[in-house]
Amino acid sequence: MSDSLEARLSAVRGHIAAAEAAAHRPKGSARLIAVSKTFPAEAMEPAIAAGQRLFGENRVQEAQAKWPALVAAHPDIELHLIGPLQSNKAREAVALFDAIHTVDRDKIAGALAEEITRQDKRPKLFVQVNTGLEPQKAGIAPREAAAFVERCRTEHGLAIGGLMCIPPAAEAPGPHFALLAKLAGEIGLAELSMGMSGDYETAVAFGATYVRVGGAIFGSRAYPPSA
Ligand SMILES: *Cc1c(COP(=O)(O)O)cnc(C)c1O
Repeated sequence: MSDSLEARLSAVRGHIAAAEAAAHRPKGSARLIAVSKTFPAEAMEPAIAAGQRLFGENRVQEAQAKWPALVAAHPDIELHLIGPLQSNKAREAVALFDAIHTVDRDKIAGALAEEITRQDKRPKLFVQVNTGLEPQKAGIAPREAAAFVERCRTEHGLAIGGLMCIPPAAEAPGPHFALLAKLAGEIGLAELSMGMSGDYETAVAFGATYVRVGGAIFGSRAYPPSA
């Protein structure tokens, strides 16, 4: 592995561009979210200096401690919440994040809708789908995704932009990415949030519009991520 963050970031960007080209997709159609969870604010500076503007965090509190000063200094930074959201954190999440990838139940949809109206903000929203039907993992079951997206629209007044998944760690990710892409097509959603350090090139081949890459950019994490 390359020894500097700049080199690793540049390598990931190169792999994404190559995967886009191989899939006959336009350059830049798969956008890179640099997943910075567990890394301190200082570690963000070289990534920002290298032009990275999309960052992903999985905990609201950690992001609140890390990002406000950096966002004030670089207003074009986009923050994406990629971890599970509790409804009692909806206020903070809507205040801080430009996108939320983990809408997966009515209670969260309702809490987000209330805050979106109250704060007059429009974060991009993704519905998380549990493509592997793993009991310990967040996300709505694939067969319930279309009805849930419809309820988000009609009952909660939420515009859902796309779907997100985290395939089971022990399985080949391709079939899960294919399923997510098929569901999004059926529902009529344009955005697909899928692919992590180990499988983002595969995700681009299956149509990812956002890939979420942490370790391959920032190095290995000191403690494991929550599911
Ligand atoms: C941590 C995390 C990632 C990034 O994982 P890496 O393997 O470090 O690239 C992507 N998506 C979610 C939801 C995560 O929690």
